[in-house]
Amino acid sequence: MSLKANLQTIRAGIETACRRCGRDPRTVRLVAVSKTKPVSLIEEAAAAGQTLFGESYVQEFVAKAEAIALPLEWHFIGALQSNKVKYLRGHTALIHSVDRYSLAAEIDRQWASLEEPAAILIQVNIGEEASKSGTTAKELEELVRRVSLLPHLRIRGLMTLPPYCEDPEEVRPYFRSLRQLALTIEELKLPGVAMEELSMGMSHDFAVAIEEGATLVRVGTAIFGERERN
Ligand SMILES: *Cc1c(COP(=O)(O)O)cnc(C)c1O
Repeated sequence: MSLKANLQTIRAGIETACRRCGRDPRTVRLVAVSKTKPVSLIEEAAAAGQTLFGESYVQEFVAKAEAIALPLEWHFIGALQSNKVKYLRGHTALIHSVDRYSLAAEIDRQWASLEEPAAILIQVNIGEEASKSGTTAKELEELVRRVSLLPHLRIRGLMTLPPYCEDPEEVRPYFRSLRQLALTIEELKLPGVAMEELSMGMSHDFAVAIEEGATLVRVGTAIFGERERN
């Protein structure tokens, strides 16, 4: 299948999932995860109408963003070391993967000289897997409270990478838990914190994620094909 056809299939899948649960399809945005994929494929996706892309590796991302002149929206979704935050400054519309205070503080420091605050999501390790990043559900509130005091960033929601399950139905409870956590945080009514975005769902489970409230689905393989590495 062509990349264009893949995108059409995903968009149709998003609409179907929205219709099934009575949501407006405009409330769900597709993040095309282009990590490890060449600039030529990103341009091909852009030509097919895709404007929002997600990348996971800082150097790779910066090289691609500089090579592409199109007005694309870039989200950073990968594990992030504090000493690399400076390379993202001004290039990303949203960082999905903030999982600790020291990282948030460095983003705050780097964004201090820009006009707009950094928009971030807090990553939650909802399945509490040792192999995955993310704060725990238990520590989330404390982290959000501390990060919300940083002046140059805004917490816009939560992100999760749940355990992998063949059957997307088995992932549903994790998506539901993330939504529940977002509702709990929303009720705290903290300044600078808005639970507008739920970043959850990937190639094989985005439909279930949408039914559970996802506003950003991060889809790589189903658009660009298999990756040789992750
Ligand atoms: C790679 C990646 C994705 C995309 O996964 P696919 O299964 O290829 O759709 C989504 N989210 C994150 C955080 C990723 O690293």
